[in-house]
Amino acid sequence: MGRVNGKTVIITGGARGMGAAFARRLVAEGAAVVVTDVLVEEGKAVAAELGERALFLPLDVTDENAWQGVVAAAEEQFGPVSGLVNNAGIVHVDPIERLAEADFRKVLDVNQIGVFLGMKAVLGSMRRAGGGSIVNISSIGGIIAFSNILGYVASKWAVRGMTKAAAQEFGADGIRVNSVHPGVVATEMTDTSERSHSMVGDQPLARAAAPEELANLVLFLISDEAGYCTGSEFVADGGYTTK
Ligand code: NAD
Repeated sequence: MGRVNGKTVIITGGARGMGAAFARRLVAEGAAVVVTDVLVEEGKAVAAELGERALFLPLDVTDENAWQGVVAAAEEQFGPVSGLVNNAGIVHVDPIERLAEADFRKVLDVNQIGVFLGMKAVLGSMRRAGGGSIVNISSIGGIIAFSNILGYVASKWAVRGMTKAAAQEFGADGIRVNSVHPGVVATEMTDTSERSHSMVGDQPLARAAAPEELANLVLFLISDEAGYCTGSEFVADGGYTTK
């Protein structure tokens, strides 16, 4: 208990799936959490379940003005922001030959530009907090490649690179930046994906991860226990990328 006592953490895409699991784990360990998402009713329900140390605010991660409002509101309610989990993400499936430019751009907009805007938005508040930790949720699609999801792979590789660049820029302010690379996690993103189901049968730990297993990793990275970790990739994939 209390591994992140006193920290104020913003989570994007926190209304369900992994983001909601991160919120539950961080609140249980003492943080105040701002759950954000475009899914308003689901997000409100997660925050209500978590009580006084949780707040829901609507946020489309592609909207820079909205980011500023969220950071200001988080700071006013709970104090300067010391943690950010850039978790919101989407996937679009099509072979390159049939992939519409608009669909490719949409994925980059949410998964890549959204992460940039988040890191930019929290910087001032994290300086006021005296330092902080940013966790960018990439994927094993940011380490290896998968067919038919070009935008997803491009954006997740970009997140991995942006994480390292930001770690270099933010280190002097005591702000750590790391990327997390899950394999198949049992959420709504994967439950209808045939590829995800077949992937798990072909890996050393032949099952999907529970969102809570990724939450343990995020908790570590947000906490001061990870004080010397920055600019690194943290893989939790049941061994899939050993192949
Ligand atoms: P999910 O679809 O359950 O959750 C994603 C959340 O992001 C949703 O609540 C959605 O409303 C929100 N979102 C989408 N667009 C948004 C926007 N423009 N602004 C704000 N919020 C937005 O999926 P998940 O599995 O929990 O995925 C969480 C993250 O983990 C994603 O970045 C995903 O790419 C990554 N990931 C997932 C898996 C997996 O197997 N599930 C594996 C590797 C990486």
